[in-house]
Amino acid sequence: MLKKLLIGLLTLLIITYAAARSLLPEKLDRQHNPVVFAAPYKVSNEVNQFYQSIDFIADLHGDTLLWKRDILKEHDYGHLDLPRLQQANVAMQFFTIVNKVPENLNFDKNDDTTDQLTIPFLLQGRSASDLSERVLEQAGELHQYSKDSNGQLVVVTNKKELQSFISQRKNNKQLTSGLLGIEGGQALEGDIKILDKFYDAGIRMIGLTHFFDNEIGGSAHGVNKGGITEFGKQVVKAMEAKNMLVDLSHASPKLIDDVLAMVTKPVMVSHTGVKGTCKSPRNLSDDHLKQIAQTGGIVGIGFFKPAVCENTVESIAETIVYTVNLIGAEHVSLGSDFDGSIKAIVEVRGLPLIAGELQKRGLTNEQIRLVMGGNVKRFFSENLPD
Ligand SMILES: [Zn+2]
Repeated sequence: MLKKLLIGLLTLLIITYAAARSLLPEKLDRQHNPVVFAAPYKVSNEVNQFYQSIDFIADLHGDTLLWKRDILKEHDYGHLDLPRLQQANVAMQFFTIVNKVPENLNFDKNDDTTDQLTIPFLLQGRSASDLSERVLEQAGELHQYSKDSNGQLVVVTNKKELQSFISQRKNNKQLTSGLLGIEGGQALEGDIKILDKFYDAGIRMIGLTHFFDNEIGGSAHGVNKGGITEFGKQVVKAMEAKNMLVDLSHASPKLIDDVLAMVTKPVMVSHTGVKGTCKSPRNLSDDHLKQIAQTGGIVGIGFFKPAVCENTVESIAETIVYTVNLIGAEHVSLGSDFDGSIKAIVEVRGLPLIAGELQKRGLTNEQIRLVMGGNVKRFFSENLPD
């Protein structure tokens, strides 16, 4: 009798887990990555023609891999997948790997004691405990998508691959590339040897901190918001030696100062706003923007409310124009934060609206080409490993 009851309970548990595993990832994805306006998006013929004529459109920040969405299929939720990137004429999408997010997330003060990703990861059937495993698993998934894409999605890891992608894409606009990054250097678990594993997995960009202070240094949303640690210095030096790009998104102002004081190569910020148009704790001061540009760096402007204060195409364009006027069009890029648990004004197919708004605000077509992706093409052509 007891045995039967136990078997019954166990079966129920297994069925519940299986049901949750198949239904919950999509449910979470839908809940976390809504849009204000759904496709289709309308722009004038002139804007559309100009947009389609841009040879390299790129976005420096998308958290799509977190949701275990099959990116080879088109979805009616979330912000991007391969079919939608192709429809949007995107040449390069960055896939940034989120690996730990505190409970009760806020922009002012978070510690590292909780993690709201453990249960979703379990339900997705992924490794849940080890942060570096979480990263390697998501990176492996992008490589697998690429293998299964009939050559339409290429993961770029060095200069040669990027050059060959650029020349192939000239004849085939359906080709899209992905570049792997990490959001939050806590994934190194304080162990410099893990950096080699990440490099070997094709990761070429690391955001040093995410929502809490970690072994590398302070987060803009951390408890102490301190500068760089000894381990952090070791990481930045090792990354420079390997030609991995340092991403200062979410870094505390002190950490940004410390990194800028030590780097010998260009740095980047994959997704941010600027204090000049929106005073959020995660946004960059004019001074930091100028110093980042002086390294030869690029700054991706985010599409989320805490970055640009208003959830509108106009506020994204305003921030881009402000930053272009401050540091020059050759240092400004797109850093949407698509699929980063944000309510985006539009999904990826809405990018022509931004190009149109930038024209309206007086940027030249040449400046807009740089912002929409020309800078990313140049920056990574120069700074990826050989
Ligand atoms: Zn972020």
